[in-house]
Amino acid sequence: MKKIRTRIAPSPTGTPHIGTAYISLLNYYFARINNGKVILRIEDTDSKRSKSKFENKILELLHWLGIQWHEGPDIGGKFGPYRQSERNNLYNKYVEKLIKVGKVFKCYRTSEELEKLRKCKVDKTLKEKDLQLDYKELKFRKKHNWPYVIRLKVPNKGKCVFYDVLRGSITMNWDQIDSQVLIKSDGTPTYHLANVVDDYLMGITNVIRGEEWITSTPKHKLLYDYFGWKQPEFCHLPLLRNPDKSKLSKRKQNNSIEFYRKMGYLPQTIINYLGSLGGVKTTKWYRKNTNMKTKVDIKSISLGGPIFDLDKLSWLNGIYIRSMKNETLIQVMYEWAKDYIHKILPTIKPRIKILTDIIHLSEQVFYGLPKLKKEDFKVIALKKKLQIKVLKHLWLQLEYIEKWDKQNILYKVKQVSNQLQMKMKTIIAPIFIAINGRLISTSVINTIVILGKDITRIRIKQAIKLIGGITLKHENK
Ligand code: GLU
Repeated sequence: MKKIRTRIAPSPTGTPHIGTAYISLLNYYFARINNGKVILRIEDTDSKRSKSKFENKILELLHWLGIQWHEGPDIGGKFGPYRQSERNNLYNKYVEKLIKVGKVFKCYRTSEELEKLRKCKVDKTLKEKDLQLDYKELKFRKKHNWPYVIRLKVPNKGKCVFYDVLRGSITMNWDQIDSQVLIKSDGTPTYHLANVVDDYLMGITNVIRGEEWITSTPKHKLLYDYFGWKQPEFCHLPLLRNPDKSKLSKRKQNNSIEFYRKMGYLPQTIINYLGSLGGVKTTKWYRKNTNMKTKVDIKSISLGGPIFDLDKLSWLNGIYIRSMKNETLIQVMYEWAKDYIHKILPTIKPRIKILTDIIHLSEQVFYGLPKLKKEDFKVIALKKKLQIKVLKHLWLQLEYIEKWDKQNILYKVKQVSNQLQMKMKTIIAPIFIAINGRLISTSVINTIVILGKDITRIRIKQAIKLIGGITLKHENK
């Protein structure tokens, strides 16, 4: 039997989400119980949105959770490189093959034309025949070296059937599937091409990924068929849901792994909870029990979407914490607080006279979420409506900071003051309460720097809800 090889294939386009941890964990478990190997592959085909800081965060947080891999960009391996941007010259060879067998075509359409064409079509899918230019125009564009992309030829009619471990046979109509771009006009591959070629070259036997990729699978199947390669086994995991059944949004800060780490959830809580949602049958934390018997019954996963319930997670975290030996817990507490202590020290050191001063001077960074009441905002000489406005503007502004440092944060706060035509002195008060939990404390900008984007924005959100109970636009994007 072929040795099992699974892969964790994140795109480094944002801070890693709890869903990434879930998918990674199941790939890890599945390989492990089958004595297989896990490959970590960075899918950075979107060069504009991919950032090395996100890649570093992904590796750091997966390591923190205890998820391990046998091959990857950080440790190398026989099938490397494991970063798609370093494999660019490799994909062309495969496109050449497709050109030879006539399974792809060059498309010289401009984005405006594509938009128009889509508007005219009820089903919005574009096939080769929809994209064709008349002979003269095509000749002109070729002659004048217009940019072009290479697209996949997709059947116009008939059905595509593929097998999914959880769902059995899935049937989709070919007329619903676009002529996917495989090579962009700059000559680099899209996710679809790179993903299939790499899964093949890296010997992946099982593709375990989120169900949002189901609609892409017909294109992938087509590529496997055109190349004459055997497909891996597909398993599309249902996305995690909130208790109200809504999808766990990727954009909400409190779904990032970093948020849970900073709030003081333990890696073993997250792993065991996510594992239980993914049909993992074990009561022990796997990292500490390398020889334990773990069973993964992926088939038992509810297709309606496993519920990620924060209350349960907190309950479980409490159980783990209370069952720890005191020395271990002290170590865990120190590990958690260490980063904050290092960061807050330069601010508080000049103000410390006796050690007990430390608590009052630094507590704001340790709160997680400060325990605020509506009344806390009443002391501010600014109307409730305006306080909400300030916080909402800030919440939005902070989202767009690329480099989280004092200068950029201050710039954004000033921008809020300009936008609202209110003095800095006026707008800073609600920010102090929302972030620091009180009006008198060390610099709020400094706290924001230390807390990081996720926790800061969650604190602001908490404050907005408390003062006005209004939900934020963009919140669920
Ligand atoms: N790079 C894709 C992602 O970020 C992975 C899709 C797949 O596993 O095929 O989710």
